[in-house]
Amino acid sequence: MTDINTQEIQRLYEKLNKEAEDGGYHLNPDVEFTKQLVESLIINQQRYGYPACPCRLASGKKEEDLDIICPCDYRDADILEYGACYCGLYVSEKVLKGERKLQSIPERRPPKEKRSESVTQKIQTGLPYPVYRCKVCGYLCARESPPEVCPICKAKKERFERFM
Ligand code: SF4
Repeated sequence: MTDINTQEIQRLYEKLNKEAEDGGYHLNPDVEFTKQLVESLIINQQRYGYPACPCRLASGKKEEDLDIICPCDYRDADILEYGACYCGLYVSEKVLKGERKLQSIPERRPPKEKRSESVTQKIQTGLPYPVYRCKVCGYLCARESPPEVCPICKAKKERFERFM
């Protein structure tokens, strides 16, 4: 690991840690392990142009990988059920405090043929503003277009879906 890489990893680690804590999430307290994942995110960012999940095989086509751009669409459900996201980058408060042990986490991402546009995108209503839903954390907002960045989990605009 070069000095530059170490600094880059540290910078991203601190950014993700702050965003996580601000949004009610927690990075894995095993800092060495977590920094390895952060390094993989940087590598994927350089390789694909987006931080694809370090534990999954990315296609290299952003539109096909949107659900596994970190934080992925499956993070919250896995934290709730297993105490950590699939990679173990994010953990629940109980895991953070050592009150729950980490276990292996089965892959929640559906197989490619079963991944489809959300049916909610097709819902039409008479509301004055469309409602957008963050597919990562479930944050809802009624406005002309989704926010650039989710105020809760910091996912980018492209991770929002039309909800109503
Ligand atoms: S949040 Fe999802 S994409 Fe990010 S490291 Fe965890 S499992 Fe991978």
